[in-house]
Amino acid sequence: MKPISPCCFICSGKIEKGTTTFVLDLKSSLIVIRNVPALVCTQCGEEWIEDSTAIELEQITERAKAHDIQVEVVSM
Ligand SMILES: [Zn+2]
Repeated sequence: MKPISPCCFICSGKIEKGTTTFVLDLKSSLIVIRNVPALVCTQCGEEWIEDSTAIELEQITERAKAHDIQVEVVSM
């Protein structure tokens, strides 16, 4: 795996570890996942989610879909 660039590729700003809120609107259901670990640009606010985090988000999404949940708010 390549090391994550310390600079934002959009504005070259500084990137810091933080958290974000992930919202997924599936029409039949709305999934909100809070406290998602992310890398955030301190300058333009662009956010990146790491692969391992993306997999976890997908698992939460699949579970919500399988249970036919209309609104799911979870915290990572
Ligand atoms: Zn930036």
